[in-house]
Amino acid sequence: MARVRMQNVKNIVLIAHDSRKKDLLEWVEYNRDVLKEHHLFATGTTGALLAKRTELAVTRFKSGPLGGDQQVGAQISEGVLDILIFFWDPLEPQPHDPDVKALLRIAVLYNLPTACNRATADFLVASPLFHGQYDRLLEDFSATRDEFVRGFEP
Ligand code: PGA
Repeated sequence: MARVRMQNVKNIVLIAHDSRKKDLLEWVEYNRDVLKEHHLFATGTTGALLAKRTELAVTRFKSGPLGGDQQVGAQISEGVLDILIFFWDPLEPQPHDPDVKALLRIAVLYNLPTACNRATADFLVASPLFHGQYDRLLEDFSATRDEFVRGFEP
């Protein structure tokens, strides 16, 4: 098993679909004092609203439907992001549903702490692990792929 060390200060990415943005904004405002100790990232529109409403520093990716979810997934796979708060819409289909599914898949694959609703986000933020170091365990998938490549050797 590989390990990815999460430091005391986390890189947290926040995303909300349009119908869930109000919920996320309220959650961030309520937890402002905790969140300001960490590095915040967001997809485009979510990030713009967060910066305006909370005046927290937020690094923005592209808007979700314009590739932002894919950028976030790439940053998770690179080990840059530590926590995903993703309030996705459970009632309406999205134009970028394949990207949403891909992002959730990558978050599970990389064993990333992920909250898709407020209750889970509350539990995450209340955990002592939120502020401490934590080693995320990762299955070593490269070993399986290396074996596959070796299978092609003459
Ligand atoms: P947005 O993207 O923050 O640009 O609205 C959210 C999403 O749909 O992933």
